Amino acid sequence: MAVDQVEVSPKTAKPVADVQHTPMMQQYLRIKADHADKLVFYRMGDFYELFYGDAELAAKLLDITLTTRGASGGVPIRMAGVPYHSMEQYLAKLVKLGQSVAICEQIGDPNTSKGPVERKVVRVVTPGTLTDTALLDEKRDNVLLAIHAIKGLVGLAWLSLSSGAFRLKEVPAEQLVSELERIRPAEILLPDGLQLPVISQMGLTGKALAAWHFDTETAQRLLKQQFGTHDLTGFGCDGLLPALGAAGALVDYARQTQGSALPHLTALAVERGNEYLVLDAATRRNLELTETIRNESAPTLMSVLDQCASAMGSRLLRHWLHHPLRQHDQIITRQQAVIELMEQDAAGDVFEVLNRMADIERITARIALRTARPRDLSGLRDALLRLPELNPILQGLHAELWQPLQAALVVPPACMSLLASALQAEPAVVLREGGVIADGYSAELDELRAIQTNCGEFLLALEARERERTGIATLKVEFNRVHGFYIEVSRAQADNVPDDYRRRQTLKNAERFITPELKTFEDKALSAQDRALALEKSLYEALLDQLQTHLQSLQQLAAAVAQLDVLACLAERASTLNWVAPQFTTETVLEIDQGRHPVVESQIDHFIANDTRLASTRKLLLITGPNMGGKSTYMRQNALIVLLAHVGSLVPASRALIGPVDRIFTRIGASDDLAGGRSTFMVEMTETANILHHATEHSLVLMDEVGRGTSTFDGLALAYAIARHLLEKNGSYTLFATHYFELTRLSQAFPMAANVHLDAVEHKDRIVFLHAVQDGPASQSYGIQVAQLAGVPTPVIRSAKRHLAELEQMGAGGAFQGDLFASAPVYEEVNVSSPVVEALAGLDPDALTPRQALDALYHLKTLLNA
Ligand code: ADP
Repeated sequence: MAVDQVEVSPKTAKPVADVQHTPMMQQYLRIKADHADKLVFYRMGDFYELFYGDAELAAKLLDITLTTRGASGGVPIRMAGVPYHSMEQYLAKLVKLGQSVAICEQIGDPNTSKGPVERKVVRVVTPGTLTDTALLDEKRDNVLLAIHAIKGLVGLAWLSLSSGAFRLKEVPAEQLVSELERIRPAEILLPDGLQLPVISQMGLTGKALAAWHFDTETAQRLLKQQFGTHDLTGFGCDGLLPALGAAGALVDYARQTQGSALPHLTALAVERGNEYLVLDAATRRNLELTETIRNESAPTLMSVLDQCASAMGSRLLRHWLHHPLRQHDQIITRQQAVIELMEQDAAGDVFEVLNRMADIERITARIALRTARPRDLSGLRDALLRLPELNPILQGLHAELWQPLQAALVVPPACMSLLASALQAEPAVVLREGGVIADGYSAELDELRAIQTNCGEFLLALEARERERTGIATLKVEFNRVHGFYIEVSRAQADNVPDDYRRRQTLKNAERFITPELKTFEDKALSAQDRALALEKSLYEALLDQLQTHLQSLQQLAAAVAQLDVLACLAERASTLNWVAPQFTTETVLEIDQGRHPVVESQIDHFIANDTRLASTRKLLLITGPNMGGKSTYMRQNALIVLLAHVGSLVPASRALIGPVDRIFTRIGASDDLAGGRSTFMVEMTETANILHHATEHSLVLMDEVGRGTSTFDGLALAYAIARHLLEKNGSYTLFATHYFELTRLSQAFPMAANVHLDAVEHKDRIVFLHAVQDGPASQSYGIQVAQLAGVPTPVIRSAKRHLAELEQMGAGGAFQGDLFASAPVYEEVNVSSPVVEALAGLDPDALTPRQALDALYHLKTLLNA
């Protein structure tokens, strides 16, 4: 692209012909043209500068000053800058806001350059490709996702660059939302022209790349080259064309941003449909697994569970909570490992070893990308040194899962000895100033260092000799960074120095000199220092090279550490919180004794435990009771118990027996999600439609106050029809909380539906919630009492009570809501018969004259009043 066509930025100066720009701006504009969609950090001395539209945007986003810097091409150059030493903090902020940044460094030598110093983009930082410690949340994986679609089939490929985990999956288009909610990508790539409105509806943004990046044949070539394999069959991804296309674009993009071949990306895993319990997007939110509905990190299931000692463990725990397993044998393998840790009371010992352990997983990725810093490597070394402390613990464990873990936890000896011999105990933070490579690792380095160390002795000897030669007792030999070595003599003595003394610097009270002998020494010492620094740098590079051969075993090691940490965490939680191991069966049952909600329980003093019984003959529980009675808590606790059981964890109950479960669905009442701005009736019905279409007899469905978002009759009618559909068509395990008492009659028509209720008692005009689930429908709604509890003014409460009494009277002694229901006959078996109806049925409007019609109307009126 010619520079004069460059769209510099959204609100830039008008494009101006190349020749009119200063040479530096020509260089800048050339670089910017290649990175038009990113902010360019252009290195100038101690600052990264941004220009034109980039400057305006950065000034706004980072709250930094916008200035102008002369003019180029006749237009003032708007500019904003950040100091290079605090760049990370600004990068972190920009990336969080979804921006990508191209970092352009000076690579030429300013002293020898004619015109502007040569500059090059050395790295591109995008939200999904972060690997720097400073930019990453240590407790969360950062994922880059690419999406491609061919004929309604959506291919997904996602990658956590900082762990090397790389996955593919294909799903029907309608499942994309739940996959996005599960994968939670930090950045999404899609082919230009692919319209996926769900992305923006979820508040995410997609980055469109030219469609050829997603070409499936190129992708397969690229992946084979990446993995160094002849074909991809071994990865089980044959024929997954949309996903492979996405994977190709993904790997290419990631490589470009890192300017590296990603050697730690050695395999991909294909996810199939039935591996995990399916949790749709709403369910992940509503169950508050890792974030609350208001997007806070606590209190959530994760915040209650996460006692992991390492960030690797916390990240894996988060992953497990979002990926409950479906196959009972796999779950039991995990569960047995947890139980064994509990029996041996070993969690604390595991934590002790893993505590404050460096993040092996992320350091491995940085070694692969060659961005690992000295302290990363020493952290890795210290971690590897500590790992053998796990051996006595591991030796006592015999469950099936431990074997592969024990194998993976063996520290590769070559890697260990390499790190131990190469690095100083406490290496410098940055390589630039040396002090990283250990003594004894390189004879040449030792020698160069010896010259510098021996320096002191040499200088002392020289000082003594010169004092004697000159007779000046106060003469000193010293060194500083600016002037190098010198002999300092007081001003009064300055005239008494020998002839071979050359003046180096004059101070107020002293003169500084250099002699030929000292100069020769200085050259040797300084060059030794430079050579030592250069040698250290190349030894460090070579160390990174040698470490490349250990990437795979380090990755396995990190994965095993993470697993051990999570298993220990689950064991610790189960013991501390008094949880039990759920049992699994192939029969259709869900039986929970004394179940508790783990998060609510952690927030209050006395949690009332409750039982749940569902089976093939009892598929729907209709839950009634006052607001605040505990309906939502009860429903969710059952879902969380089922979920935890499938994670391999123990569960908050005294007993649990669980049959096959394929999905958990939740539809939570409209008013509960106001903060998310998603309280519309439309959203409620969309989620309901999804459930009715997809729930199976093995699905657990939570319906909370469905129908609340519309008028009473509509809502009641819908709630009834939905419950009935779930019973008759889906046959799912259903927990159906409702404030429509009329629905409690459902159990009369459908024996598979049962009523349970939560109760409250009135005490001195106040209301006390019992939180205990009992059989049968609720008798009272206590709405007014709850309003009173909430602080609604007393006159309003009094007026409401009066009005309620009137309404109940109008209902002719029966429950008013019962009448409401009779006027909206949603039960098909309701059969209204009366003289008016019979007379009406006998009329044929087409056969009546206007006069006869009027007479008929009068007749009907009389019948009604009779
Ligand atoms: P509902 O859905 O019926 O309006 P919630 O389930 O939201 O009621 O419960 C309201 C509050 O009652 C909860 O925040 C919790 O503090 C308390 N609660 C609910 N269930 C229990 C229980 N089983 N034991 C103790 N307190 C409970």
